[in-house]
Amino acid sequence: MSDRREERPAIVFDLDGTLVDSLPDILASFVHAFSTCGLAAPSQRELRDLIGLPLEGIFAEFARSDAVPALCAAYREHYPRHFTNHSRPFPGVVRVLEVLRRRGYLLAVATTKRTAMAERFVAAMGLTDHLDHVQGTDGFPHKPAPDVILRALGALRARGTWMVGDTVHDVEAGKAARLSTYALTWGTHDAERLREAKPDRLCDAIEPLLDAVRGDAEGVTG
Ligand SMILES: [Mg+2]
Repeated sequence: MSDRREERPAIVFDLDGTLVDSLPDILASFVHAFSTCGLAAPSQRELRDLIGLPLEGIFAEFARSDAVPALCAAYREHYPRHFTNHSRPFPGVVRVLEVLRRRGYLLAVATTKRTAMAERFVAAMGLTDHLDHVQGTDGFPHKPAPDVILRALGALRARGTWMVGDTVHDVEAGKAARLSTYALTWGTHDAERLREAKPDRLCDAIEPLLDAVRGDAEGVTG
């Protein structure tokens, strides 16, 4: 019990569609990959339903399994060369991260991207100095499993409080990790779909997170 009191509270964020408005660049890389492999791209609507899951699984929904490795390779070659074309942090994100840190929270990203790619993207978006840890999904179960969240918290030796995300996978993973869940409607899944996952909060902006988390950091000087 005493050990637990000494743990600092942490908030865990999904990256794409949550902290960063990155869907257009992601969708463009999907279109490029299908085109490179001579395949017709599915609709944006079909892709959006699946974004947030691992690349291999998304491509497998639309192509024969023997085409998936080449599709993934084409995506991974294209995406980092273009991921700053349109992607930017959503409005208010940097200020909210700064305020949460001043209140004593540790802040982590937990994403289905691989860690190396996630760190590159976080740096390109100017967010590295606003976060305490970037955790990707490197060969262990992806969201909605809680593993990526638990690994982020383990790396920080922190007590998880809230999971913030833009898909039902984030909400389900947050619940599985026993965190409160804050769903943002400005990303991949719309409010109707997110509501079905029963997040603790459903918001169209990140500023209300500052009120939602009040109380978690009591007793912490930061
Ligand atoms: Mg997301």
